Amino acid sequence: MSEAQVDQRRKDGTLRHLLTLEHLSRAEIERLLNKAQSFVRPLGAPPPTSNTLAGVTVANLFTEPSTRTRVSFELAAKRLGADVVNLEVQLSSRVKGESMLDTVYTLQSLHVDVMVIRDAEAGVPALVAGNVAPHVSVLSAGEAHVSHPTQGLLDALTVRQHKKRFEGLAIAIVGDIRHSRVARSSFHAFRTLGVADLRIVAPAVLMPEEPEFEGCSRHTSLAAGLKDVDVVMMLRIQKERMGQADLPDADRYFVQYGLTPERLSLARPDAIVMHPQPMNRGIEIASDVADGRQSVIRDQVRNGVAVRMAVLADVIGSRSSAT
Ligand code: ASP
Repeated sequence: MSEAQVDQRRKDGTLRHLLTLEHLSRAEIERLLNKAQSFVRPLGAPPPTSNTLAGVTVANLFTEPSTRTRVSFELAAKRLGADVVNLEVQLSSRVKGESMLDTVYTLQSLHVDVMVIRDAEAGVPALVAGNVAPHVSVLSAGEAHVSHPTQGLLDALTVRQHKKRFEGLAIAIVGDIRHSRVARSSFHAFRTLGVADLRIVAPAVLMPEEPEFEGCSRHTSLAAGLKDVDVVMMLRIQKERMGQADLPDADRYFVQYGLTPERLSLARPDAIVMHPQPMNRGIEIASDVADGRQSVIRDQVRNGVAVRMAVLADVIGSRSSAT
Protein backbone atom coordinates (compact mmCIF):
# COMPACT_ATOMS: atom_id res chain seq x y z
CA MET A 1 0.00 0.00 0.00
CA SER A 2 1.41 3.42 -0.85
CA GLU A 3 0.90 6.54 1.20
CA ALA A 4 -0.79 8.21 -1.78
CA GLN A 5 -3.85 6.09 -1.03
CA VAL A 6 -4.39 7.75 2.34
CA ASP A 7 -5.53 11.34 2.44
CA GLN A 8 -3.41 13.25 4.91
CA ARG A 9 -6.05 15.93 5.28
CA ARG A 10 -9.41 15.98 7.01
CA LYS A 11 -12.55 16.85 5.07
CA ASP A 12 -12.16 20.50 6.10
CA GLY A 13 -8.67 20.58 4.56
CA THR A 14 -6.70 20.64 7.82
CA LEU A 15 -3.71 18.34 8.22
CA ARG A 16 -4.53 15.14 10.11
CA HIS A 17 -1.56 12.90 9.25
CA LEU A 18 1.93 13.65 7.98
CA LEU A 19 3.23 10.77 5.89
CA THR A 20 4.86 12.61 3.01
CA LEU A 21 5.60 16.16 1.87
CA GLU A 22 4.87 15.21 -1.72
CA HIS A 23 1.34 16.59 -1.95
CA LEU A 24 1.59 19.49 0.49
CA SER A 25 1.15 23.00 -0.90
CA ARG A 26 3.72 25.72 -0.53
CA ALA A 27 1.37 27.52 1.88
CA GLU A 28 1.08 24.41 4.09
CA ILE A 29 4.85 23.91 4.20
CA GLU A 30 5.43 27.60 4.95
CA ARG A 31 2.83 27.53 7.73
CA LEU A 32 4.68 24.61 9.38
CA LEU A 33 8.07 26.32 8.93
CA ASN A 34 6.77 29.58 10.44
CA LYS A 35 5.33 27.74 13.40
CA ALA A 36 8.58 25.79 13.83
CA GLN A 37 10.62 29.00 13.70
CA SER A 38 8.55 30.35 16.60
CA PHE A 39 9.78 27.40 18.69
CA VAL A 40 13.50 27.93 17.94
CA ARG A 41 15.61 29.31 20.78
CA PRO A 42 19.35 29.97 20.95
CA LEU A 43 21.40 27.30 22.69
CA GLY A 44 21.61 28.02 26.37
CA ALA A 45 18.18 29.67 26.51
CA PRO A 46 15.39 27.63 28.07
CA PRO A 47 13.35 25.75 25.44
CA PRO A 48 9.78 26.94 24.85
CA THR A 49 7.08 25.00 26.69
CA SER A 50 3.28 25.16 26.60
CA ASN A 51 0.22 23.10 27.43
CA THR A 52 -1.05 22.96 23.83
CA LEU A 53 -1.04 19.15 24.01
CA ALA A 54 -2.25 18.78 27.60
CA GLY A 55 -4.42 15.64 27.82
CA VAL A 56 -2.98 14.30 24.55
CA THR A 57 -0.95 11.08 24.44
CA VAL A 58 1.75 10.52 21.84
CA ALA A 59 3.24 7.06 21.15
CA ASN A 60 6.58 6.66 19.40
CA LEU A 61 6.56 3.29 17.61
CA PHE A 62 9.99 2.68 16.13
CA THR A 63 10.94 -0.61 14.49
CA GLU A 64 14.20 0.79 13.08
CA PRO A 65 16.95 2.36 15.17
CA SER A 66 16.84 6.11 15.71
CA THR A 67 18.59 8.60 17.93
CA ARG A 68 17.77 12.16 16.91
CA THR A 69 14.30 11.58 15.48
CA ARG A 70 12.99 9.59 18.43
CA VAL A 71 14.47 11.84 21.09
CA SER A 72 13.30 14.98 19.34
CA PHE A 73 9.73 13.69 18.86
CA GLU A 74 9.70 12.82 22.57
CA LEU A 75 11.04 16.21 23.65
CA ALA A 76 8.70 18.01 21.24
CA ALA A 77 5.62 16.24 22.65
CA LYS A 78 6.70 16.76 26.27
CA ARG A 79 7.48 20.44 25.74
CA LEU A 80 3.92 20.88 24.48
CA GLY A 81 2.53 19.15 27.58
CA ALA A 82 1.65 15.72 26.12
CA ASP A 83 2.06 12.31 27.75
CA VAL A 84 4.56 10.20 25.79
CA VAL A 85 5.14 6.47 25.49
CA ASN A 86 8.07 4.97 23.58
CA LEU A 87 7.86 1.50 22.06
CA GLU A 88 10.75 -0.29 20.42
CA VAL A 89 8.45 -2.65 18.60
CA GLN A 90 11.05 -5.15 17.44
CA LEU A 91 12.01 -5.77 21.03
CA SER A 92 8.49 -6.33 22.29
CA SER A 93 5.42 -7.25 20.26
CA ARG A 94 7.00 -8.17 16.92
CA VAL A 95 9.16 -10.77 18.58
CA LYS A 96 5.97 -12.36 19.87
CA GLY A 97 4.43 -12.23 16.40
CA GLU A 98 1.94 -9.46 17.10
CA SER A 99 1.10 -7.51 13.98
CA MET A 100 1.68 -3.76 13.72
CA LEU A 101 -2.05 -3.17 13.51
CA ASP A 102 -2.75 -5.14 16.70
CA THR A 103 -0.14 -3.03 18.48
CA VAL A 104 -1.78 0.09 17.08
CA TYR A 105 -5.28 -0.99 18.21
CA THR A 106 -3.90 -1.64 21.69
CA LEU A 107 -2.41 1.84 21.82
CA GLN A 108 -5.65 3.32 20.54
CA SER A 109 -7.55 1.58 23.36
CA LEU A 110 -5.05 3.13 25.77
CA HIS A 111 -6.13 6.58 24.53
CA VAL A 112 -3.13 7.30 22.35
CA ASP A 113 -3.99 10.23 20.07
CA VAL A 114 -0.84 10.48 17.92
CA MET A 115 1.18 7.54 16.60
CA VAL A 116 4.69 8.44 15.45
CA ILE A 117 5.90 5.56 13.29
CA ARG A 118 9.28 4.56 11.89
CA ASP A 119 9.42 1.37 9.88
CA ALA A 120 11.76 -0.25 7.36
CA GLU A 121 8.84 -1.44 5.25
CA ALA A 122 7.24 0.88 2.72
CA GLY A 123 3.53 1.46 3.29
CA VAL A 124 3.37 0.84 7.05
CA PRO A 125 2.55 4.45 8.11
CA ALA A 126 -0.23 4.57 5.49
CA LEU A 127 -1.56 1.18 6.58
CA VAL A 128 -1.81 2.45 10.15
CA ALA A 129 -3.29 5.80 9.08
CA GLY A 130 -5.94 3.97 7.07
CA ASN A 131 -7.03 1.91 10.07
CA VAL A 132 -7.01 4.19 13.12
CA ALA A 133 -10.04 5.94 14.61
CA PRO A 134 -10.90 9.40 13.18
CA HIS A 135 -9.45 11.34 16.12
CA VAL A 136 -6.02 9.65 15.83
CA SER A 137 -3.17 11.17 13.79
CA VAL A 138 -0.24 9.29 12.30
CA LEU A 139 3.14 10.96 11.75
CA SER A 140 5.87 9.23 9.78
CA ALA A 141 9.26 9.31 11.45
CA GLY A 142 10.88 7.60 8.48
CA GLU A 143 9.37 5.09 6.04
CA ALA A 144 11.81 2.71 4.31
CA HIS A 145 13.54 4.64 1.48
CA VAL A 146 10.28 6.45 0.73
CA SER A 147 9.77 9.41 3.01
CA HIS A 148 10.93 11.25 6.13
CA PRO A 149 8.71 14.33 6.15
CA THR A 150 9.83 15.99 9.37
CA GLN A 151 13.45 15.69 8.21
CA GLY A 152 12.48 17.39 4.93
CA LEU A 153 10.87 20.21 6.91
CA LEU A 154 13.83 20.67 9.25
CA ASP A 155 16.17 20.73 6.28
CA ALA A 156 14.03 23.43 4.64
CA LEU A 157 13.92 25.41 7.89
CA THR A 158 17.70 25.23 8.20
CA VAL A 159 18.17 26.47 4.64
CA ARG A 160 15.68 29.29 5.19
CA GLN A 161 17.47 30.44 8.35
CA HIS A 162 20.76 30.74 6.50
CA LYS A 163 19.67 31.78 3.00
CA LYS A 164 16.39 33.67 3.61
CA ARG A 165 14.81 32.89 0.21
CA PHE A 166 14.51 29.64 -1.72
CA GLU A 167 14.18 31.18 -5.17
CA GLY A 168 17.53 31.64 -6.83
CA LEU A 169 19.26 28.99 -4.71
CA ALA A 170 21.32 26.12 -6.09
CA ILE A 171 21.15 23.01 -3.88
CA ALA A 172 23.14 19.79 -4.39
CA ILE A 173 22.01 16.58 -2.68
CA VAL A 174 25.00 14.24 -2.71
CA GLY A 175 25.46 10.53 -2.02
CA ASP A 176 23.22 7.52 -1.70
CA ILE A 177 20.14 9.16 -3.21
CA ARG A 178 18.65 5.86 -4.37
CA HIS A 179 18.11 4.51 -0.85
CA SER A 180 17.51 7.81 0.94
CA ARG A 181 14.13 8.82 2.34
CA VAL A 182 15.75 12.09 3.45
CA ALA A 183 16.69 12.96 -0.14
CA ARG A 184 13.11 12.32 -1.28
CA SER A 185 11.45 14.41 1.41
CA SER A 186 13.95 17.26 1.16
CA PHE A 187 13.56 17.26 -2.62
CA HIS A 188 9.77 17.56 -2.26
CA ALA A 189 10.17 20.45 0.19
CA PHE A 190 12.77 22.33 -1.87
CA ARG A 191 10.85 21.90 -5.13
CA THR A 192 7.56 23.08 -3.60
CA LEU A 193 9.33 26.05 -1.98
CA GLY A 194 10.60 27.21 -5.36
CA VAL A 195 14.27 26.15 -5.54
CA ALA A 196 15.06 26.32 -9.25
CA ASP A 197 18.51 24.71 -9.42
CA LEU A 198 18.22 21.34 -7.69
CA ARG A 199 20.98 18.82 -8.34
CA ILE A 200 21.43 15.19 -7.37
CA VAL A 201 24.98 13.89 -7.31
CA ALA A 202 25.79 10.18 -6.99
CA PRO A 203 27.62 7.30 -8.60
CA ALA A 204 25.40 5.59 -11.20
CA VAL A 205 24.56 2.66 -8.86
CA LEU A 206 23.21 5.04 -6.20
CA MET A 207 21.19 7.21 -8.61
CA PRO A 208 17.41 6.83 -8.36
CA GLU A 209 15.45 5.66 -11.40
CA GLU A 210 13.75 8.31 -13.50
CA PRO A 211 11.15 9.84 -13.32
CA GLU A 212 11.89 10.22 -9.60
CA PHE A 213 13.49 13.57 -8.71
CA GLU A 214 11.89 15.11 -11.76
CA GLY A 215 13.35 18.52 -12.60
CA CYS A 216 16.69 17.88 -10.83
CA SER A 217 19.86 17.84 -12.87
CA ARG A 218 21.78 14.57 -12.43
CA HIS A 219 25.55 14.47 -11.93
CA THR A 220 27.95 11.58 -11.50
CA SER A 221 30.84 14.05 -11.13
CA LEU A 222 31.01 15.66 -7.69
CA ALA A 223 32.98 18.61 -9.07
CA ALA A 224 30.26 19.44 -11.62
CA GLY A 225 27.51 18.91 -9.06
CA LEU A 226 29.08 21.25 -6.49
CA LYS A 227 29.99 24.09 -8.85
CA ASP A 228 28.69 27.37 -7.37
CA VAL A 229 25.97 25.79 -5.18
CA ASP A 230 24.59 27.57 -2.10
CA VAL A 231 23.75 24.40 -0.18
CA VAL A 232 25.49 21.00 -0.09
CA MET A 233 23.46 18.24 1.50
CA MET A 234 25.49 15.09 2.12
CA LEU A 235 23.86 11.69 2.68
CA ARG A 236 24.92 8.53 4.44
CA ILE A 237 25.50 5.31 2.50
CA GLN A 238 22.41 3.31 3.53
CA LYS A 239 24.12 -0.04 3.99
CA GLU A 240 21.02 -1.54 5.56
CA ARG A 241 19.08 -1.04 2.33
CA MET A 242 21.66 -2.63 -0.02
CA GLY A 243 22.91 -6.09 -0.78
CA GLN A 244 26.62 -6.84 -0.24
CA ALA A 245 27.18 -6.68 -4.02
CA ASP A 246 26.01 -3.06 -4.19
CA LEU A 247 28.14 -1.81 -1.31
CA PRO A 248 30.69 0.70 -2.55
CA ASP A 249 34.23 0.37 -1.22
CA ALA A 250 34.53 3.00 1.53
CA ASP A 251 38.00 4.26 0.58
CA ARG A 252 37.20 4.56 -3.10
CA TYR A 253 33.92 6.24 -2.31
CA PHE A 254 35.67 8.90 -0.22
CA VAL A 255 38.15 9.57 -3.01
CA GLN A 256 35.36 10.13 -5.54
CA TYR A 257 32.44 11.45 -3.49
CA GLY A 258 33.72 12.44 -0.06
CA LEU A 259 33.23 16.11 0.81
CA THR A 260 36.68 17.51 1.62
CA PRO A 261 37.61 21.18 2.17
CA GLU A 262 39.09 21.31 -1.38
CA ARG A 263 35.89 19.98 -2.93
CA LEU A 264 33.76 22.33 -0.86
CA SER A 265 35.72 25.26 -2.28
CA LEU A 266 33.98 24.57 -5.62
CA ALA A 267 30.71 25.69 -4.05
CA ARG A 268 29.96 29.33 -3.30
CA PRO A 269 32.16 30.76 -0.53
CA ASP A 270 29.10 31.19 1.69
CA ALA A 271 27.69 27.73 0.95
CA ILE A 272 26.34 25.76 3.89
CA VAL A 273 26.94 22.05 4.50
CA MET A 274 24.17 19.79 5.78
CA HIS A 275 23.93 16.12 6.77
CA PRO A 276 20.91 14.37 8.34
CA GLN A 277 23.19 12.13 10.46
CA PRO A 278 24.37 9.62 11.46
CA MET A 279 27.55 10.64 9.62
CA ASN A 280 30.21 8.30 8.32
CA ARG A 281 33.21 10.55 8.81
CA GLY A 282 35.89 9.72 6.27
CA ILE A 283 33.39 8.02 3.93
CA GLU A 284 30.94 10.69 2.74
CA ILE A 285 32.31 13.66 4.64
CA ALA A 286 35.69 14.72 6.07
CA SER A 287 35.73 15.69 9.73
CA ASP A 288 37.22 19.08 8.82
CA VAL A 289 34.07 19.82 6.85
CA ALA A 290 31.58 18.25 9.26
CA ASP A 291 32.97 20.40 12.09
CA GLY A 292 33.98 23.36 9.93
CA ARG A 293 32.64 26.90 9.74
CA GLN A 294 30.26 26.16 6.87
CA SER A 295 28.62 23.22 8.63
CA VAL A 296 25.05 23.73 9.89
CA ILE A 297 24.63 20.09 10.91
CA ARG A 298 24.02 20.95 14.56
CA ASP A 299 21.43 23.57 13.58
CA GLN A 300 19.57 20.80 11.79
CA VAL A 301 19.36 18.81 15.03
CA ARG A 302 18.10 21.83 16.98
CA ASN A 303 15.53 22.56 14.28
CA GLY A 304 14.29 18.97 14.47
CA VAL A 305 12.64 19.54 17.84
CA ALA A 306 11.06 22.81 16.66
CA VAL A 307 9.68 21.20 13.49
CA ARG A 308 8.23 18.24 15.41
CA MET A 309 6.60 20.63 17.89
CA ALA A 310 5.07 22.52 14.96
CA VAL A 311 3.71 19.36 13.32
CA LEU A 312 2.28 17.99 16.58
CA ALA A 313 0.66 21.35 17.42
CA ASP A 314 -0.74 21.61 13.90
CA VAL A 315 -2.41 18.18 13.65
CA ILE A 316 -3.81 18.35 17.19
CA GLY A 317 -4.74 22.04 17.08
CA SER A 318 -6.80 21.55 13.95
CA ARG A 319 -8.39 18.36 15.32
CA SER A 320 -10.47 20.20 17.90
CA SER A 321 -12.08 22.37 15.24
CA ALA A 322 -12.63 19.48 12.84
CA THR A 323 -13.82 16.50 14.93
N1 ASP B 1 18.58 9.60 10.07
C1 ASP B 1 18.18 9.64 8.67
C2 ASP B 1 17.12 8.61 8.37
O1 ASP B 1 16.54 8.05 9.26
C3 ASP B 1 19.33 9.55 7.76
C4 ASP B 1 20.12 8.29 7.78
O2 ASP B 1 19.80 7.36 8.54
O3 ASP B 1 21.08 8.23 7.03
O4 ASP B 1 16.84 8.35 7.22
